[in-house]
Order: sequence, then C-alpha cells, then structure tokens
Amino acid sequence: MRIRFWGTRGSLATPGPTTLRYGGNTSCVEVRTDDGTLIVLDCGTGAHRLGQALLAEAKPPLRGHLLITHTHWDHIQGFPFFAPVFTEGSEWDLYAPGGVGERLEAVLSAQMQHPYFPVTLAQLSATIRYHDLVEGALTVGGVRVVAQYLNHPALTLGYRLEADGVSIVYAVDHEPHMRDRPEAGRMGAPGASALHAEDARHVAFLEGTDLVIHDAQYTAAEYPDKVNWGHCPAETAVDYALAAHVRRLALTHHDPLRDDDAVDRLVAICRERARQAGRTLDVFAAAEGMSLEPTRRELRAPRPRRPAAASTAAPSAPAHVVLIADDDPVVVELLKATLRAETFQLYTATDGESALRIARAVRPSLILLDWLMPGLDGTQVTRALRADADPYFRDVPIVLLTAEAGATKTQEGFAAGATDYLTKPFKVPFVRARVRAWLERVGADSERGA
Ligand SMILES: [Zn+2]
Ligand SMILES: [Zn+2]
Repeated sequence: MRIRFWGTRGSLATPGPTTLRYGGNTSCVEVRTDDGTLIVLDCGTGAHRLGQALLAEAKPPLRGHLLITHTHWDHIQGFPFFAPVFTEGSEWDLYAPGGVGERLEAVLSAQMQHPYFPVTLAQLSATIRYHDLVEGALTVGGVRVVAQYLNHPALTLGYRLEADGVSIVYAVDHEPHMRDRPEAGRMGAPGASALHAEDARHVAFLEGTDLVIHDAQYTAAEYPDKVNWGHCPAETAVDYALAAHVRRLALTHHDPLRDDDAVDRLVAICRERARQAGRTLDVFAAAEGMSLEPTRRELRAPRPRRPAAASTAAPSAPAHVVLIADDDPVVVELLKATLRAETFQLYTATDGESALRIARAVRPSLILLDWLMPGLDGTQVTRALRADADPYFRDVPIVLLTAEAGATKTQEGFAAGATDYLTKPFKVPFVRARVRAWLERVGADSERGA
C-alpha cells in the first residue's frame, strides 16, 4: 500500500511562503494498493494536483473510489477541479455519510450550481456512482473498509482501510468526547483507559493500525477556546494513538494559522509526549507531496466493536421516534427546534415519571434525558429502562443532558447505562450530527436484526 498526501490543511487553503513545507491545500490523500485499487480520501483543493498526476501517470479511462468524510468545503472543494471525473469512460464510486440527512449527490450538485461553477454535476463525462454510507464494513476494490462516526458538527465518518497486510485509519474533523480535560492524557497513560465510552470506541477503531492520519488542528493550549468546533488537539491525537497501540501517527488538518515552524514545534511537543509515556510511536506531520508505504505486518488488530454487515444506507429511512425529557422548557424548545427540520416524530416530557411512561408506550429510537428532573432523575430513569422487562430497552441509545461534564459525573452516567451525554449549553449543529449518528447506529442494528 502506498500513501501520498495532496492536501494537509484544515478549513481553508492557505498557500504562501509560510506554508511551503507542510502545504497549503486542503484535505486530500491518495491510497494505492498492490492490486491497483485507487482510493482518494477527501476531495479538498489538493485533489486538483492529484487529478493532474493521475492523468499524467495513466491514460484514461481511470477507475477509482472517492471516500469523503463529510461535505464541509475543505473536503469537497477540489471535486469540480478533479480532472479524472471529466474523462469519458472513467468510472468513479463516491462514498460519504448519508442516511437520515442530505444525500451526497445533492450536496455536490449544489456546490456546482451556476452561481458557483460553470459546469454542472450532470455534465461530468465519467460514470459516477454515489453511495450514501452509514457506519459499518464494506469492500472497496481490494480493500476492506470500516467506517465509523467521528465527533464533528456535521455527520462525519472516519475510514479504516485494510489491504496488503497493512491497516490505516483516516480520521479528520474529530473532537474528543471528553472535552473538559483533554490535557490530562488519560487515554495514553500506561494502563489508563478512555473515560468516555465514545472515546474508547474511537480508540478501538484505531486499534493496532500501522498508520493513523489524524486531525490535529489545535494545540492543547489553544483548545479551551475551540471547544465544540469539532477538531482535536494534537496532544489528544497522540493519546488516542498510544492507547490504540498505533505504530505511526500522521498529524494533519493543520490549522490555517499554523505556519511551518509552528507545525515543527507541535510535532516536537507530540514526540516528547509519546517519549514520556515510555512508548514507541512515530509521530510526524503530514506534508503535501509526502509519500509513504506503511510497513507490512500481520493484521492482528481486533475488529472495531460493532462491525455492521452492510453499510449502504436504505434509500428512505423510516421516521425515527425521539423522546426528549427536560424540566427546562427552554431546553426542550431548543432541542425541538433543532430536530424539527429532520423527519423525526418527537415526544416530550418534563419529569422522570412521565419520561418513563412515554418511553414504555412509544419505544423511541432515541431518548434524551435531563440529568436533574423532578421526581426520578435522568440516571434513575436510565436504570429503570435498562432493567425493564421489555428487552428493547437494553440497547436503545439513552443520552443524558447535563451542565456538568466532569469525569465522576460521566462515569456515574455510564454506570447507570447511558450511551452518551450532551453537555449544556448545546451547540445546535453538534446536537444534530450526534443525533443522526445515534439513530444511524439504531438503523444499522435493526437492519441486521440485532
Ligand atoms: Zn475539515
Ligand atoms: Zn468539517
């Protein structure tokens, strides 16, 4: 397997004298396997030069696969400039998170409407097939791909690729779930495990890989001002990699304000962090033009915890029933407004007893419970549902809403059986993306009859 970086910048292309070494183009990585399968990870502005290189290397028609993490600009802006999609006879399969939300074809087509671009999506000469993905495993050419949701204000997938005896993960635009103390390094300390169940899930996703290409947009020092922006401090990326026994870590999605020298300093900090943990981890910053071949070794990684059988979403998902329980009418209204645009059937309650009664009556796909409510509080309702005679309530996602996100609180919530928690005050796009991720998991489980 060979990897080439064509775009390593996050958020905004930043060409110029201070970004010459690490590059100014936005996210785009080329993966080529021994059997010739071509996978392009994201289609930021780096895709322009990749397209030119592909056409210089081989005469069209070209065959390739484009795996898009999400459709924020820095991940799709290069698509209309990716020359291979203009070549007759070429075939491209495009993959991106779909399901409950927007469909990939519609989003790409919107980006190419005439006020923005002279050629429409329908006018591209290549044959293009669109695949809306949910979490799970699929086969792309000769590569086994596992997709898993990341934590970002848009529904975003990370991709784990396994081929040629090598495994890599591409995880950009991800924020740690344990937001209040990413500097504590708990995930990377020897013997320590991730405090938040979703962080543990992320670690399991990276487990045992030869190379992880990870979001490292911020430093730990910058992060407190960037909470809820959907990106990762580089130090936390190191902690994830250490906890997951990763061999090499490529820091990427460099902040537009980070010049080359600042990237060097951040790499030095990250190497020191790995050294202090007493572990061997090769940390480096992804640079435009960099090419590498992850070393071959036996695939010994355990599979991520919930590998789904099939990953292509059903064309029209049924309406999901969501229960919101909070004694604060402002929070209920905010959540209702956030979710109203989606095709959800919403139920609300203002105390624990009513929440329990409604949950048993309507069996929601997702339950959002305030921690502090009159009567039964959120953890008591969670315990009651998990112990219910109806087995449906054993696995339904239950999310606790709380103003405190401390470690003790978190553990208490998970001990009660909560799936996750949301910290107040909420940021609307985050809530929407998280809700979609929880519901997609429910959908994937029910498709398998699990
Ligand atoms: Zn991004
Ligand atoms: Zn993004």
